[in-house]
Amino acid sequence: MTDSFSNDLACAKKLDQSDPLKKFRDEFHFPKTKAGADQLYFAGHSLGLMPKRAKDYVNNELSAWAKYGVEGHFLGSHPWLHYHENITSSFAKLVGAKNTEVVAMNTLTVNLHCMMVSFYRPTKSRYKILIENNSFPSDKYAVDSQARFHDLDPKTTIIELAAGADGMTVSEGSILETIKKHGPELSLIMLGNCNYLSGQKFDIDKIVKAGHAVGAVVGFNLAHGAGNLHLKLHDSGADFAVWCSYKYLNSGPGGLAGAFVHERHHGKKDIPRFEGWWGHNKETRFKMGPQFEPLATTEAWQLSNPPIFQLASLRASMEIFDEAGIAELRKKGDQLTNYFSWLIQKNITNEIEIITPQSEGARGSMLCMKFTANNKNNPKAWFEKMIQAGAIMDFREPNIIRATPAPLYNSYEDVFRLVSLMKEYMNA
Ligand SMILES: *Cc1c(COP(=O)(O)O)cnc(C)c1O
Repeated sequence: MTDSFSNDLACAKKLDQSDPLKKFRDEFHFPKTKAGADQLYFAGHSLGLMPKRAKDYVNNELSAWAKYGVEGHFLGSHPWLHYHENITSSFAKLVGAKNTEVVAMNTLTVNLHCMMVSFYRPTKSRYKILIENNSFPSDKYAVDSQARFHDLDPKTTIIELAAGADGMTVSEGSILETIKKHGPELSLIMLGNCNYLSGQKFDIDKIVKAGHAVGAVVGFNLAHGAGNLHLKLHDSGADFAVWCSYKYLNSGPGGLAGAFVHERHHGKKDIPRFEGWWGHNKETRFKMGPQFEPLATTEAWQLSNPPIFQLASLRASMEIFDEAGIAELRKKGDQLTNYFSWLIQKNITNEIEIITPQSEGARGSMLCMKFTANNKNNPKAWFEKMIQAGAIMDFREPNIIRATPAPLYNSYEDVFRLVSLMKEYMNA
């Protein structure tokens, strides 16, 4: 595919013209540069852009509150009592699950804990948790604290994958070997997909199979998977998954998270779970009885009545995902990221190397780059100059940059202009 690229703006414009998803760019607000142009926004892995329709959707609920007060739970165009159900089928399509297997609730780390309460059940001989190397700090704090909660020492309980020579990515062979090696002691495998730092995608199917073969529970943190990858959670047989919606899913800061619990865990009487009234049978919830009667779906894990304004902006964003389709988005995402990677390697050969695996199937849209030993720039100062020029990526100390061309709103021209600017400021 890369032979169809050339190193000029005309090529970018041509690719944009034939992009079947190009109309979606117009659905989003782009922050502006000092000169009033759209920023080159490549931080969708951190906070996605605001869908223009989000304002109307949130305003609609503010108006319902003004007009109906408490009756807004039952009146208006989208009664609050069932509001989270507006998200269900979109989430199901997004992650490849049945409607009954997903729910929008809480925030990501909260959901991770809720899932571990149910699915991390250490015994004397089987108690270890396998996580990523370079795991996101919150995930590490979550598993460490779960270990301590069960009176276990995190040092002997938490195992990390081993990075290869680049210090970042992990070979598939080594993942499967690690699972085998710790097999009888492994209680839970909890990996990301993609890794938040390296952008490496893990093979969910193979990991679930390997994990189940040794008797472990397998769950995923899809903070960098949902809205980025074309997932098939149900078919993979994964036990649970969680994801946030403010990154790739553009639901706004602090947006509600998602949870998936495979249907084979539904309706179990003996499953330990932190319980709250929103997980209770909907028919009898308002009888306000003292005995918890769980819903027969993943909704049983809900605790509280949810924040409606956050759900409203999530609904706006999920509608756009439904219109575009995750399969089409991934298709464009692959080409856009191929183009990005091709341009970087053509234009910035000395100072930066790409850490994210180069093959399409091994990554999503995000590219992780590292300044090389040959680099003469101060990475942080270079990055600051890029921001001043209106190019938004993110920087991790001491020398890592991450940038994501988002197939919903980034154009090939954005990518071309970003790489041109990256090159211009190198050694400038
Ligand atoms: C973004 C991210 C988080 C953040 O957790 P919140 O609970 O949403 O603040 C956690 N884990 C991973 C892997 C992430 O990428």
